[in-house]
Amino acid sequence: MTDADLRSLGIEPAALDPAPPWTPRWEAAIERLRARHPCLLCGQRSSAAGVAEVAEHGRLWVDRCMPCLVATTPRGGPQAPVEDTVTALHESAREAGVALTIVTDGE
Ligand SMILES: [Zn+2]
Repeated sequence: MTDADLRSLGIEPAALDPAPPWTPRWEAAIERLRARHPCLLCGQRSSAAGVAEVAEHGRLWVDRCMPCLVATTPRGGPQAPVEDTVTALHESAREAGVALTIVTDGE
């Protein structure tokens, strides 16, 4: 996670707590979770103790609950074309013997 990642989430790096170097990080992350810090995005109890590397601030804790972690984690990998997804759905419906109508908001 970078400064740009934090800012895209509306998190000000200067407001975060310093995080330790990588070597003891996992042990420190477990301690961080036990301390029950609130999620930076919604205020619920955090269940993930991430670390951001920010140029002016160094390593910082990024505490998030699981729903916020999932909602704000970028998805990697190439996206399949919509046509491939529609074709796969039609094939699955045909194999299952059910009628299928797909309505899209494009074209
Ligand atoms: Zn949250």
